[in-house]
Amino acid sequence: MEKDKLAMEVNKRRTFAIISHPDAGKTTITEQLLLFGGVVRKAGTVKAKKSGNFAKSDWMEIEKKRGISVTSSVMQFDYAGKRINILDTPGHEDFSEDTYRTLMAVDSAVMVIDSAKGIEPQTKKLFQVCRMRGIPIFTFINKLDRDGRPPLDLITELEEVLQIDAYAMNWPIGMGKGLKGIYDLFNQRIELYRREDKNESFLALNEKGELAEDHPLKSESIYRQVLEEVELLQAAGNQLDTAKVAAGKMTPVFFGSALTNFGVKTFLDAYLKFAPAPSTHKTETGQEVKPNDDAFSGFIFKIQANMNPNHRDRIAFVRICSGCFERGMDVTLQRTGKKLRLSNSTQFMADTRETVEEAVAGDIVGLYDTGNFQIGDTIYTGRTAVKFEKLPQFTPELFVKVTAKNVMKQKSFHKGIAQLVQEGAVQLYQSYSTGEYILGAVGQLQFEVFQFRMKNEYHSDVVMESIGHKIARWIDPAQLDEKMSSSRNLLVKDRHGMPLFLFENDFSERWFKDKYPDVKLTAKL
Ligand code: GDP
Repeated sequence: MEKDKLAMEVNKRRTFAIISHPDAGKTTITEQLLLFGGVVRKAGTVKAKKSGNFAKSDWMEIEKKRGISVTSSVMQFDYAGKRINILDTPGHEDFSEDTYRTLMAVDSAVMVIDSAKGIEPQTKKLFQVCRMRGIPIFTFINKLDRDGRPPLDLITELEEVLQIDAYAMNWPIGMGKGLKGIYDLFNQRIELYRREDKNESFLALNEKGELAEDHPLKSESIYRQVLEEVELLQAAGNQLDTAKVAAGKMTPVFFGSALTNFGVKTFLDAYLKFAPAPSTHKTETGQEVKPNDDAFSGFIFKIQANMNPNHRDRIAFVRICSGCFERGMDVTLQRTGKKLRLSNSTQFMADTRETVEEAVAGDIVGLYDTGNFQIGDTIYTGRTAVKFEKLPQFTPELFVKVTAKNVMKQKSFHKGIAQLVQEGAVQLYQSYSTGEYILGAVGQLQFEVFQFRMKNEYHSDVVMESIGHKIARWIDPAQLDEKMSSSRNLLVKDRHGMPLFLFENDFSERWFKDKYPDVKLTAKL
């Protein structure tokens, strides 16, 4: 691709994720956004329970049964001259690891909050990951059609709990049954909740910030109240500071109701004015890779097997960081130094997969994978080797021993485990003394999904025996003496062969440290 064209294409990209606590309305708002875009392509859908038209991967049965969103998917659409990539994130906290890695692949985030509930635990956790990356965060306070908390309370909570400045782009006029509309400071207009006739959903404001024309709303007390609140905000609240927004230090706040499609388009239009195009990505050695660089580079943030039961395959999701992807191109896989031809690629997967011919920095491509890739891998073209910064890794806290029910079926058992571990679904360890397989996870649900998938995808019934909560601590192999293992800790090796202890509790870790003061233990490899 020519340099100018590449720069123009990259500039059109807006790649973001929606973060929220389950049930705040992420799915509903995503569906609305896709509708505005007329959906170019979509993957996975949004959520099985509502649309019924989702990627019919059999393991998603577990989602249907439990009514939660387990997978992440990628959706792309064109809107207002921009190409938008939405990366969906699993809402359940047991899958936060997956979500966290997905957040490494976006340029901004939209935080959806339930107006009746305010900041919930999962919102807070995900917010902190975005904050750590310093990406811009936009807030949508949802469910205005229901009675929620007073808007001033919500803004105050946002600032206090998340320690971020908030700037209200608009303000609700009433709530629940009394919802009249939103007072839109950014566009200097009032957007009515119920249109009186087809043309009249927006009412202009004059320079004093009051309704320019005569309108029945003017005589309502809620209108007066909102004018006062807005005046208060302007006098005592923050001013919109685009530099702070770009640095993730101020969040523009929008109100609306995703279910009734109120305020969502207003949000999207304003969001696109502020959301950043793809920017630079840091390598492990601190160099910055620019999106407009000629050479292609990207990293794998997610691997998913068997998205379609008719094609037993694995897809590696690549976030393109620089240059242009072309089908059939040769790249170098940094970890092994091997050259690979990327001939089999798909932009997004769903019931209808589309082969992608070309994509640029900011886009996500799915590569069919026959076992070459691992999460965190960098691929690149050109002579200069590139290795992007490590993705965050979670130290598992829950452990089970795992065996195949049928000893005759070891082959499918090993194959299944190897693939699911490579996908990052669970962590695998092996006992030093007995060679037993031990799985580690952040949450119980990960084990359930593992068991379900082993049976459905690899025809392997597994037996899992809980060994409970443990504290995982790595030890330098040079300092290891197998005699250090006792009844209070379990010595295992991880899948790279590195030794670690699984301690029963804080007490047994302290006991170990007292006994071996010179031995260094680390929480993460
Ligand atoms: P997610 O778990 O964050 O993806 O949330 P969903 O989009 O699935 O929404 C959870 C529930 O809230 C569903 O029953 C939605 O219909 C409902 N919901 C979402 N947005 C709104 C809204 O604006 N108003 C009302 N009243 N309900 C909403």
